[in-house]
Amino acid sequence: MPLPPRIVVAGAGFAGLRAVDAVAGAAARGQCHLTLISDLDRFVYRPGLPGLALGRLRTADITRDLKRFRAVRAARLHVAPVTGIDPESHTVTAGGRHIPYDVLIVATGVVPDRSAVPGLQQYGHGVWDIPEALALRERLAQGARRVVVAADHTSPCVFGTYELAMMLARGAPRVTLVTTEYGPGGLIGPHARRALETLAARLGVEVHPGRRVAEVGRRGVLLDDGTAVDADLAVVSPPPAVPALAAGLGQGAARTGLVLTRASLASVRWSGLFAAGAAAAAPPPVTAHVAEQMGLLAGRNALVAAGIRRGELQDLEPSIASLLHFGRWYGLLHYLRPAGGYGPPRFRGGIGGWPLGALKDLFRRAYLAVRF
Ligand SMILES: Cc1cc2nc3c(=O)[nH]c(=O)nc-3n(C[C@H](O)[C@H](O)[C@H](O)COP(=O)(O)OP(=O)(O)OC[C@H]3O[C@@H](n4cnc5c(N)ncnc54)[C@H](O)[C@@H]3O)c2cc1C
Repeated sequence: MPLPPRIVVAGAGFAGLRAVDAVAGAAARGQCHLTLISDLDRFVYRPGLPGLALGRLRTADITRDLKRFRAVRAARLHVAPVTGIDPESHTVTAGGRHIPYDVLIVATGVVPDRSAVPGLQQYGHGVWDIPEALALRERLAQGARRVVVAADHTSPCVFGTYELAMMLARGAPRVTLVTTEYGPGGLIGPHARRALETLAARLGVEVHPGRRVAEVGRRGVLLDDGTAVDADLAVVSPPPAVPALAAGLGQGAARTGLVLTRASLASVRWSGLFAAGAAAAAPPPVTAHVAEQMGLLAGRNALVAAGIRRGELQDLEPSIASLLHFGRWYGLLHYLRPAGGYGPPRFRGGIGGWPLGALKDLFRRAYLAVRF
């Protein structure tokens, strides 16, 4: 009797957990062996990181032990960073072990390239992960009079930095927001932009649109147009770095290191390989909501590729909604619909208003408490 196919999911973020969820039923029925490889033993709800940095939330409020997810219990959990993928021999290396797969879903996200902005590592702060958010929290506790917050729209932190800027401006410091947004490839549309600008004006936030930070120094930052912005604290979201895992994928990875996929999220180059979430070089911007849709689709398509589910591979047709929290009484609901599914955004909408900020907190609680 042939052995059940081996499905391996690398990364336990929004995309990876959804992929596990899609495959868990088949694993529980013994139709496949499911392995989840994660460098952390817990899920980090990244949209909660600004709240952690601002002291509104605790680490426990934005993390959940992976074993507490029902779907993860159907998988073999291997806690170790994936350090290599050999797509020819269908093997993943993690924690010194070589794990064979029939189908692999790469959902390891991206990491910020902290070396992309000179001076950032020495003088600046970030909000990408828990250590960064806690370091920022400690720094904020020492007090800051002028804060510059810089958002790069190619970074998965971009929404977090908007939230941080607006929430900080509700307190004592004067805040300057530098954003590469509002240019080609920008994430937010005209409606959401207007709502953001209205709030920035109301809170006295000075905005430098279409600019990026070229250098961070002890007393502020230098923008790419030569403008110097004084600040005693700089929080900068740098562009993403090339993930090291891409090296083994050869022409199956883009120059950015992201996995090149078809609309089905199957690799353009390698059999039995899928990518989901920020790790995939997908045209629509990857938010948490999109990463989940990708994870679910990659999981379902993995079942098809493994011969467990009948039918054809399906294509991604994401809709993108995100909720930004700007304080208890204000938030922004942002919606994007890509044209023809896997293409550039067609419709962009956004509304701002008082109940939305509170809604985001409710959503976080529900996500961590009851979802799969
Ligand atoms: C501060 C901040 C605020 C944000 N706010 C919002 C928001 O309000 N709304 C919104 O929609 N989006 C928001 N985002 C973006 C959202 O978090 C990302 O789009 C989403 O996390 C992408 O999901 P993912 O599963 O692709 O990656 P991730 O969630 O990053 O998951 C990747 C997982 O893989 C693991 N991993 C990485 N490398 C390895 C490896 N080598 N081996 C094993 N495991 C590995 C990571 O630890 C992680 O668990 C925010 C992001 C940040 C940083």
